[in-house]
Amino acid sequence: MTTLFLTDAEATRSLGVRLGNCLPAGSVILLEGDLGAGKTTLVQGIGEGLGIEDAIVSPTFTLINEYPEGRIPLYHLDLYRLEPSEVEVLNLESYWEGAEFPLGIVAIEWAERLPYKPQSYLYLRLSYSPESGRQAELVSVGNFDWGALAQDLGQAKDLPL
Ligand code: ATP
Ligand code: MG
Repeated sequence: MTTLFLTDAEATRSLGVRLGNCLPAGSVILLEGDLGAGKTTLVQGIGEGLGIEDAIVSPTFTLINEYPEGRIPLYHLDLYRLEPSEVEVLNLESYWEGAEFPLGIVAIEWAERLPYKPQSYLYLRLSYSPESGRQAELVSVGNFDWGALAQDLGQAKDLPL
């Protein structure tokens, strides 16, 4: 596990930009963190890194927002209003299995509500820091592929590779 200190919203966004720049198609990012911890801000950065020009808005009411126009597609989900039993019938695997939708980056807010998980994913937990800003904890699970992120961040000892 790696812990990053994100001093302000721009730092949260710029972590997202790096993920969006570098992660390969098929990446799943499971986001957890209290209300207002910065999950949507991070996904907005991912959109910027992918070159998506549309505004990324929280899909709390629409559940899934799809942005096909960047380097690879972005699928942004928010499970806040759902019970695990409701999530189960949504067939969310179709977003990371690659058969029904073109593979891209799948970013899921409130991922603790997922009753099942992909085999490999980046777990990213945001929490309020005791002083100010936020902390991010990153854990790669399974064979999560860091893609070009490994080169982008290769010199940084504080990041997971
Ligand atoms: P929700 O649980 O409602 O979906 P969220 O986790 O998606 O919330 P955001 O909407 O992204 O949270 O951010 C909430 C607020 O926190 C925003 O005003 C955002 O600018 C701010 N914020 C994001 N990152 C940081 C940070 N590192 N330091 C301080 N403020 C931050
Ligand atoms: Mg949000």
